[in-house]
Amino acid sequence: MTAPGPSVRTTCPYCGVGCGVLATPDGRGGAAIAGDPDHPANRGRLCVKGAALGETLSMQGRLLAPRIGGAEATWDAALDLIAERFSRTIAAHGPDAVALYVSGQLLTEDYYVANKLMKGFIGSANIDTNSRLCMASSVAGHRRAFGTDTVPGQYDDLEQADLVVLVGTNLAWCHPVLYQRLMAARAARGTKIVVIDPRRTATCEGADLHLAIAPGADAHLFNLLLCRLFDTGGFSAAFLPKLTGADAALTAARAARAEATGLDPADLERFLALWAGTEKVVTLWSQGINQSDSGTDKVNAILNCHLATGRIGRPGMGPFSVTGQPNAMGGREVGGLANMLACHLEIENPVHRAAVQGFWASPTMAERPGLKSVEMFRAVEAGRIRALWILHTNPAVSMPEADRVARAIAACDFAVVSDVWPDTDTARRAHVLLPAAAWGEKDGTVTNSERVISRQRAFLAPPGQARPDWWQLAQVARRMGFAGFDWDGPAAIFAEHAALSGVAGALGSDFDISGLAGADYDGLSPVTWPQGKVRRRRFFADGQFHTPDGRGRMVPVVARLPAPVPEAQPFRLNTGRIRDQWHTMTRTGLSPRLAQHLGEPYLELHPRDAAALGLAPAALACVESPQGRAILRVLVSDRVRPGHPFAPMHWTGETGPTGRTNALVPALTDPVSGQPASKSAAVAIRPL
Ligand code: SF4
Repeated sequence: MTAPGPSVRTTCPYCGVGCGVLATPDGRGGAAIAGDPDHPANRGRLCVKGAALGETLSMQGRLLAPRIGGAEATWDAALDLIAERFSRTIAAHGPDAVALYVSGQLLTEDYYVANKLMKGFIGSANIDTNSRLCMASSVAGHRRAFGTDTVPGQYDDLEQADLVVLVGTNLAWCHPVLYQRLMAARAARGTKIVVIDPRRTATCEGADLHLAIAPGADAHLFNLLLCRLFDTGGFSAAFLPKLTGADAALTAARAARAEATGLDPADLERFLALWAGTEKVVTLWSQGINQSDSGTDKVNAILNCHLATGRIGRPGMGPFSVTGQPNAMGGREVGGLANMLACHLEIENPVHRAAVQGFWASPTMAERPGLKSVEMFRAVEAGRIRALWILHTNPAVSMPEADRVARAIAACDFAVVSDVWPDTDTARRAHVLLPAAAWGEKDGTVTNSERVISRQRAFLAPPGQARPDWWQLAQVARRMGFAGFDWDGPAAIFAEHAALSGVAGALGSDFDISGLAGADYDGLSPVTWPQGKVRRRRFFADGQFHTPDGRGRMVPVVARLPAPVPEAQPFRLNTGRIRDQWHTMTRTGLSPRLAQHLGEPYLELHPRDAAALGLAPAALACVESPQGRAILRVLVSDRVRPGHPFAPMHWTGETGPTGRTNALVPALTDPVSGQPASKSAAVAIRPL
């Protein structure tokens, strides 16, 4: 418990908007929460989730001490056991027999230590993050087009654009403060807004045009746009010499079919004319594009249009991927994905590996990409991964084929979970549970969707024996005999991360924050990277990319649609978030106010489907796929298309017939990014 006040500047732990928060401790374990008027992301605004943060600081049910086999244990006993089991497994079966599964909820410093331990000291790249489920296709698309995983723009581009196209994103619910900024700009300057989404979401209410596109047809649409841009002289003569692949991309785009989009021809024409005729266009997307078995191609189909027209990196224009989680970007920067190294360096590149190994003075380095999340849990299931450490995420609920993942964790030889709560679906299956410090109790940094690095600051003391994740990881590393894990706090880790980014910058990486290595960590104000020799807010307007020849790449995209649903599962289930809940509800579920919005798992069903199935509003429906089963309350609504119901993904519970939507989703992934197609599960529906 801490003394009352003064206010502490920190950052919201939920979505990738990354709003600044002022937290004022009340001295009784709680805090008053307000938006930080000086934070560039939100300028004082908060959405309902952020505003309710003070209601989620409860200590009830917290994990307060390590547990081994369900019994309380000392930190020494738990850490020694983890180090011993990991070392023994590596000695017997090699470094690829162990894995870390981490989270976009981790702070950058936690991520840095996890990545260093796994890739530089254990010598395997079997570290992946739940961000794989969220934005891996955008990472892959960026790298194919730009040579690096770089978000070119800034939030204020949305306020300077004349046209904002929102594709596969319910911005009003999932990135509310960004949506508020967009609406304010629209009121001030008449910004045109187009929403492209099979569902009529809350975001459509503020739009000039809603294109209820056929699910999965986004690449068709943007390929049609690319053809229109070329045919009307919209390709930029000045920018094209800075690109490769324009001819091949155009040839591939010619195969796109207007009828595949399922759109009214007049609406389609209106969109094409609007985009082609507007210089200042931002195309913004999130999971509706990324969570697809052709998500990377969809991203590149969008990027192609911006590249061909030179509408990139200038005020008010550009492609914009917004991330779901508070620190998905920070994880990308430290290399927290199985196919990345650190600071946007490449794991397959021997020069990059040698530079990182030299910096870390590490005994070994992973030489090839590790297993991505779906592959990782398959390897756990098959017994190839025998020791698994899961930090700050709940894959037994959030992964596709969630029941299968839950069984795999339960059957793993040795599973460790670091979390705040002992009773999540994942934590219940662990051999060792480590009590983690929660938001408000730990210090570190996060990076939001526009590349702004902000501090998260502690304003409460961690309860019981809870400790930050970086400390847990460093302790295990030291007990495994590794040097270089003796930081005295997150400031030292951040300084090391920043110094490593200088090494990366010298090798040509865009991610260079070496100018922050000696910064006043405690007083650090929100700052946009890069902060090395180069400091800039936007990328690529100058036509300089991070590819070997310096040119941007237009990628040929052969648009394809999802495979047809089988007769036995005739519905294609879309999944997503609701306005007032976050992930698997471990925090937002504590707020009675947030539960008032939508209080239980539901199935949004078109009236025609509901009538055909004999399902009245509020009836219970049994939803089944070959992967699992869920029981959901029926919500009849024409906001969804016939044959394409929607269900939120937040609800937890034991395996079996509950609201566990991800138990229904098959582990079908994009071949480039490895991101699961979480919005396209073939299901059967019947009255319960
Ligand atoms: Fe938090 Fe996102 Fe809401 Fe901002 S918009 S307060 S970051 S949940």
